[in-house]
Amino acid sequence: MPTDPQHAGARRGAPVQGAVDVLVVGAGPTGLALACDLARRGVRTHVVEAGERLFGGSRGKSLQPRTQEALDDLGVMDALRAAGGPFPPMQTWRDGRRDGTWRLLEPDPGAPVSRFPEPWLVPQWRTQEILRDRLLALGGTVEHGTRLASLHQTDRHVLAELAHDDGSRRTLTVPYLVGCDGGRSTVRDALGIAMKGEDGGLHPAVVADVRIRGLDRDHWHIWLDDPDARGVGSLLLCPLPGTDDFQLNARADDEERDLTPEAVRQLIAARTHLPADAVTDVLWHSYYEPRTALAERFRDGRVFLAGDAAHAHPPGGGQGLNISVQDAYNLGWKLGQVLRHHAPDALLDSYEA
Ligand SMILES: Cc1cc2nc3c(=O)[nH]c(=O)nc-3n(C[C@H](O)[C@H](O)[C@H](O)COP(=O)(O)OP(=O)(O)OC[C@H]3O[C@@H](n4cnc5c(N)ncnc54)[C@H](O)[C@@H]3O)c2cc1C
Repeated sequence: MPTDPQHAGARRGAPVQGAVDVLVVGAGPTGLALACDLARRGVRTHVVEAGERLFGGSRGKSLQPRTQEALDDLGVMDALRAAGGPFPPMQTWRDGRRDGTWRLLEPDPGAPVSRFPEPWLVPQWRTQEILRDRLLALGGTVEHGTRLASLHQTDRHVLAELAHDDGSRRTLTVPYLVGCDGGRSTVRDALGIAMKGEDGGLHPAVVADVRIRGLDRDHWHIWLDDPDARGVGSLLLCPLPGTDDFQLNARADDEERDLTPEAVRQLIAARTHLPADAVTDVLWHSYYEPRTALAERFRDGRVFLAGDAAHAHPPGGGQGLNISVQDAYNLGWKLGQVLRHHAPDALLDSYEA
């Protein structure tokens, strides 16, 4: 599981008034990628993160070619190559026996040329650690246990009210603020920007990080829909490189809404040939209801939305983390040009497009 040595004492290094050009709210992959891009351009960047440490689940584990190109430009792709691996072949199981292997993605010889032609498998917590380490090396700062409570803007500044875990508050005045604070974005709410979307009849799902005895780590294991097995859908277990963990994905029943580690064990036992006690650890688990949604706009004056704060995707297409990092990569150079090279403000309007 992730370690986070830098979070301790981060408040001590919190910047003073006037020392920040861009306040980034949220240290998920979007906020960290954006902060790296800004910091390397000499933009004074500070990240505030509500959590005491970086998020610990494997969630978005697929880095797609364009995302890898962006991350390479940010100077983290060597570390991500070392931390990850290619997607393994799928292994179908039926009645406790192996029932064929296949590739989820076939190489496409007609695809545009990229230095990174295949998706790369890295648990999201590891991607975040690598981005965080890069940010600190570039001189950026991350302040944990600090939540944006409210904001107010004039035509010259944004006043951000920050609430600390110890109950204290302070106000930071900055030229620009970017809400990278996820699907339940406080920044989006403060701006009164609505999310428009649809549920699209998507089935709720369970995702979890587990350790399992007796399953090889050379395949992405799948137990397909079986009408005889309660008709509740398939279950997948993907080995996560650089760890002893598997990421579990499964369609969920209503009864899985109040998920516990024991319920995760029972889910695996019910839908695979593995006994519940083969699951030695349940490190993280989540029940979620996928949806597709888009913020009505991505900019309000000096405040921007990026990543899940701006758009929501069902996880099956692996879009969430990928599009979020690409938001950051687009907004980063535009803010850099405006703040450091006198580009016109209108450049920032092109971010949403
Ligand atoms: C269960 C699940 C499974 C997923 N599976 C996949 C997948 O397979 N593939 C894929 O590509 N994507 C997947 N995703 C989506 C992917 O994880 C997200 O798209 C990605 O994390 C978005 O990054 P983000 O930085 O925009 O938001 P987040 O990762 O949500 O980060 C937001 C950060 O902001 C912090 N924050 C929130 N409010 C405040 C505040 N007021 N002040 C300060 N900090 C605040 C939060 O603590 C958090 O650290 C999944 C998501 C979930 C929930």
